[in-house]
Formats: sequence, C-alpha cells, structure tokens
Amino acid sequence: MGEKISIDPRVLAVREKANAAKEAFKVADGELLDVYGEVLREHGHNPDDIVIPGTWDCEKSPVGKCVYDFYQDPARDCCLYCGQPEERK
Ligand SMILES: [Zn+2]
Repeated sequence: MGEKISIDPRVLAVREKANAAKEAFKVADGELLDVYGEVLREHGHNPDDIVIPGTWDCEKSPVGKCVYDFYQDPARDCCLYCGQPEERK
C-alpha cells in the first residue's frame, strides 16, 4: 500500500467551481419550469397538460419554444402555437 497523497489544490478549486455551477444550473432550470407554467397559465393553458421539450425555438410561442398538449397530442405532432411537430428534419 502506497502513501496516500493529497489532491492538488488546483483540482479542488476548479471542482468546487464546477459544483457551484451545477448547483446554480439546477436552481435556474427549476425556475425556468416555474416561469413556463406561469406564462402558459396566463395564456389560458393548464401547465399540467403541457409539455415543452425545449428542442425547437418557436417564434409564435410566448415561451420561445414549441409547446405540446400531451393529452390531446401525445405524439407531439402539432405545436400549440406554430403547428410544427416535435419530430422534424
Ligand atoms: Zn412552435
């Protein structure tokens, strides 16, 4: 068994920065979902019925992304705002 060596402080410093960034991302991502829900509710949708895959930008959507109704349109064939499917080339 060799002697245990301590991790280089440069590694620890950057690791700490990376962990803080991941944490900040999680918080912001959660806020994004909340604000999507809020905006869609104001636009007359029930956010619980809605899915926003986030794949496509949508010029007609108030959240800037294509929005699908997962009860009426589980295959995501028709964005509520622009009518485009989720699956496209
Ligand atoms: Zn769209």
